[in-house]
This record gives sequence, structure tokens and C-alpha cells, in this order.
Amino acid sequence: MRKTDPSWTQEIDRRRDALVALRRDFHRHPELSFEERRTAEIIGERLHAAKLEVRTGIAQTGVVGILHGDRPGRTVAWRADIDALPLTETLEAPIASATPGVMHACGHDGHTAIAITLAEMLAARRAEVPGTAVFIFQPAEEVLGGARPMIEAGVLDEPRAEEVFGLHLTTQMPSGQVMVRPGPNMASADAFAVEVRGRGGHGAYPHLSVDPVTAAAHILIGMQHLVAKEVSAQETAVLTVGQIQAGTKNNIIPASAVMRGTLRTFDERVRGQILERLGAFAADLARAYRAEARLELGGMRCPTVVNHEAETSFVRACAAADLGEDAVRPGQPVMASDDMCYFLRERPGCYFRVGIAPAHGRPAPHHAPEFEMNEDGLPVGLRVALGVMLNALAAR
Ligand SMILES: [Zn+2]
Ligand SMILES: [Zn+2]
Repeated sequence: MRKTDPSWTQEIDRRRDALVALRRDFHRHPELSFEERRTAEIIGERLHAAKLEVRTGIAQTGVVGILHGDRPGRTVAWRADIDALPLTETLEAPIASATPGVMHACGHDGHTAIAITLAEMLAARRAEVPGTAVFIFQPAEEVLGGARPMIEAGVLDEPRAEEVFGLHLTTQMPSGQVMVRPGPNMASADAFAVEVRGRGGHGAYPHLSVDPVTAAAHILIGMQHLVAKEVSAQETAVLTVGQIQAGTKNNIIPASAVMRGTLRTFDERVRGQILERLGAFAADLARAYRAEARLELGGMRCPTVVNHEAETSFVRACAAADLGEDAVRPGQPVMASDDMCYFLRERPGCYFRVGIAPAHGRPAPHHAPEFEMNEDGLPVGLRVALGVMLNALAAR
């Protein structure tokens, strides 16, 4: 793998402050999934000014920028997600979110700023750039809703991208380091609801009713055994119920109870196995209590993020050439999910992680109101992204 020419590295140094300022601007003005209008407008304007071919309004608020290099080469896509979360930021600083109840607490402000700067850098030196770079700015990752409509709109087909790459910032590693791992990287996610129906009545006469609360309690405990006793000990799965709703008063047996939860796995077979069993298991157990249970899947669902072997070794080699071997780690898969999985199902590619942990103290987790990033990680992410794109666009 070719180390990126030093003139590019100097260019990153020159653009560092502007990159940070751009990220802070997005951070100050966060927008929820499918509402990223200001964000999309800025992306569109910047790409347009850099003379990329720009398409807006894809999957509502998505933007695509196409850059034709002057030299022959391949067509490769770079994907960045642009949305924020429904949280009120606790940090009080001039850069903190100016919109109460909305916050960039996952780092997507950084992903957007890196991708725009990357596109601008390549556009400024188009004469040296091979092939065609497709920059995909995807809305609504946080609701796992933006990737599929972007793909259905043809963002990987016109022009046809051969590979797709992207990065996610993470406070789980220090700035200066990147995590590149083949195979499963992020868990599948399946939101589910189990509705248990009984027959309501007086709390003093349960024998005259069918108590859905007791049935639901047994189903909840029993569900954990689906993981413990039916999934091989070498596989992983997490089944969490985060919400139970039933009843109006201590001495009234309600007619129904609803439990809502999420299933996470790293393997499509395990995912399918548990989803298939969950419905029958809940129904059979409810029947033992003379109740009825129905499983409903819906809301936030997506498969595992799986990195392709060849593209992952390629990203590893690019990152090691530019940052040094010690800066590149395989890391561990995470239980969080990301709809980048859909892009990686369509094309070979690699989704890697870039460290933004603060220099001191324990980092706040992503999706927390006190989330903060170490901005020193931004130029590191940009550097790896640039190396990956320059090498991938050149025939190899
Ligand atoms: Zn997130
Ligand atoms: Zn994220």
C-alpha cells in the first residue's frame, strides 16, 4: 500500500482548523433523522462550490456528490451519516447544541465534516485523482431508516460503485488510533413487542379473570432462556426488554400487557433462530396461563455490520502506511447497530472506527447527554479516509 504523498498530509494540516470549525457548526445546529435540512443544504452548497456533480433530496434529506478525477481509475463510494439524536446536551459551551432536545451525541457531525473536507481536497487536486468518487451523505442513521431508501434511489448504481467505505468515530479509543476489523463489527438490531391478552377483572378474584401480567412476567423470564439454552455457547445474543406496560390500578387485573425490547446478535443465523422461536415461545407460554401472546417485529431493525475480508485488509494496510502499525488495532465488535450494514450487503467494503476519546478522564458514552469528542481525532480520520480513497480509486 502506498503511503499518502506528504503534500496531501500538509494539506490536511492546513485544513485542520476549518475541519474542526465545520464540525462545530454542525454540532451547534443538530437536526433529527429525516429533518437534516440545514445540514443537507450546507453539504450541497460546499460540494457544489467544489464543482462536484450534486444530487439533493435523495431519501428526503440525503445528498450525493460525484467527483470525476482526471485520471482513469475505479468508482468507489464513501458513506457518511449526518443526523443527530433527541437529547439535551449538558455541556455549556459556545459550541454546544443551540437546539434544546437535539444533540450530535454520536459523532455524525464529525463524519459529515470529514466527508465534506475529503471531497473538497480531492476536488481541489482533481488532475491527480483517478477514477470516480461518490460521496454519500445519508440521513436518519439513528433510526436505521436512511440507508435503504438511499440504496433504493440508486446511489450505488449511478454511477456503479465497486466498493464502499466509511468510518465511525468512537470514544472507546484514544485519538490517533483506528480500529479495523474483518467480519462482524456491529450487532444486528430487532425491535420487538410482545402483547399478552387476558381477561380483566377484580384483583381479589383472579380465578374469574385471565391475568396477563403474571403471564407476561413468566414470558419475560423465559425469554432469557432462549438465549441461554437454545443459542450455542460459542455464539452471542442479547435479548433485553426495556419497557413493560399494563394496568391502571393496584387491584385491577388488566386485559392486556405489552413488553417491548430489542434483540442483538452478530450472526444472521442466530438472529433468525431467535426471532423464529420468540413468537412461538411467547404464545405457548401464554397458553399455559390461559392467555394469548402475539409477537410483533417493527420499528428499528437491521442486520449485522459485516466487513469484507479483502477490503478490510486493504483499509488496514492504508491506515498502517499512514499512521504506523501501532495505531491500527482490530478491536472488539460492539453491540450497537448501524445501517451501514445495508451498503456492505450491496457492495464489498469496510466500515472502520476512529478514536476520539478525551486525552484525560473517562469518556462519556455515545448517545449520552454529556458526550464529547476529542477533535484531534478528526484529522486522523480524514487522513485514513484520504489514503483509503486515493488507493481504492486507483486500479489495483
Ligand atoms: Zn448513534
Ligand atoms: Zn452513529
